[in-house]
Amino acid sequence: MDRLAYLDNAATTMLYPELIDTIAKYSCTLYGNPSSLHGMGMAAEDALNLSRRLIADIIGAEPRQVVFTSGASEANALILGNSSFDLNGERPLNNMVLTSSCEHSSVLETVKALYPHNYHLLNTDKNGSLLISDLSKALSTKTRLLSLIYVNNELGTILDIDAIKKQLEDSSFSGIFHVDATQALGKLDIDVKKLGVDALSASAHKFHGPKGVGFLYVKDPDKLRALIHGGGQESGKRAGTENVAYICAMAKALAKANSKKEQAYGETSLLKKRVLDYVNTNSNISPTVGYEELGNSASPYIISLSCKGYPAEVLVHMYEKQGVYVSSGSACSSNKDTVSHVLKAIGRGAEHGWSVIRLSFSQMSSQEDVSAFITASERIFS
Ligand code: PMP
Repeated sequence: MDRLAYLDNAATTMLYPELIDTIAKYSCTLYGNPSSLHGMGMAAEDALNLSRRLIADIIGAEPRQVVFTSGASEANALILGNSSFDLNGERPLNNMVLTSSCEHSSVLETVKALYPHNYHLLNTDKNGSLLISDLSKALSTKTRLLSLIYVNNELGTILDIDAIKKQLEDSSFSGIFHVDATQALGKLDIDVKKLGVDALSASAHKFHGPKGVGFLYVKDPDKLRALIHGGGQESGKRAGTENVAYICAMAKALAKANSKKEQAYGETSLLKKRVLDYVNTNSNISPTVGYEELGNSASPYIISLSCKGYPAEVLVHMYEKQGVYVSSGSACSSNKDTVSHVLKAIGRGAEHGWSVIRLSFSQMSSQEDVSAFITASERIFS
C-alpha cells in the first residue's frame, strides 16, 4: 500500500497545519480569558473580536450577528430552540416548525425532541431535492421556523434557496428561515444577505479548522434567546468561556478555504466526474442519486454510491484494507446497523442487495485519491 486515500471529508477534514501555531499562541502564550480585565484578557478579547469580524466579513454579516458555538449541532440547537417564541417573546402552543426528512440528525432529532407535536417534515424527491410544492402546502401563519440543509451531507444535493425564498415571499412567511450550511461553508459562495436567510449554522472542522467549534449567524441577534445561561458571554446569547484558540483558528481556516474555493470547486468537479465515469463501467457500483440530472444542484464534494454484494460496514473495511477511507452513508449514523433516514426518505431504504457508501472530498483531495479508489474498487469487485 503506497499511501492512504482519505475520502471521508464530509465527516471531518484535516486541520490546515499552520493553524497549530495559532492554537499554540492562544493556548500557551496569550491564554487569557477574554472576560478578564487585565492585559492578557484584553489580548484574548481582541483576538476574539478580530475573528468575529473576519468571519462576518466573509459571509456578508455584521460581527454582532455571529455567535460562536461548539459546532453546527449547537448552532442548530440554538436557533431551533428559539422557534417556540413568537415575535413578542410569548410561547404560543400552536407554533409549527417545518424541516425536511433529509436533514442532518442534529436538526431532525432536536426538532422531534423540542416540538414532538408541532413539527412537519417536508418531502424530497428521489435525488434529495426538496419538493417546493410540499413547502407551499405546509406553510401557514403558524409556521415559526423553516430549517433546511443547504448541502446534504449524505448525498451532496444542494438546496434551491432562490425557489424557497420565492415561495416564502408568496406566502407572506414571517418566521425564521434557517439553513444548516455545514457542508457548504468554504465551498459555495455564502453571502447571507444575498441568500436572504435569517440564520445559518457552520462547523469549523468541515473546512480545515478544529473540531468542537462553529458559529450561528443570526440576522436579528436582539431577538435571539440563549440556551446556555451564565456568564453573559457572546452578548448574552451563549454563556461559557469562549474557546479563543479554536475560534481564531476557525476564522483563519474559513478565510483560507474561502480564498481557494473557486479553484478547488473546479478541481473537485473533475474528481467527481472521474469517479462517476468509472462507476459507469463497473456493474457493481452505481450513483445513489441522479447526479447527471442534478447537474449544478449537487456539490462535487460528496458522492453517494450504491454497491452490490456487501453490507456498507463490510465495504468500509474492505476499502480500508486497500488504503482507502470511505464512509458508510454518513459518519454520524454509521455506528448504527440501519439504513440512514436520508436513504429511506429518498426511497432507497429497502433495496435488497445494495448498500451505500459515501465518498467525500476536500480541497486537499487529489487525482491520486481517485486512482486509489478505482484500484481498490477493481480489487474488491473483481
Ligand atoms: N449539519 C451537517 C449538515 C453536518 O454534516 C454535520 C456534521 N456531520 C453537523 C450538522 C454537525 O456538526 P458538528 O458535529 O460539528 O456539530
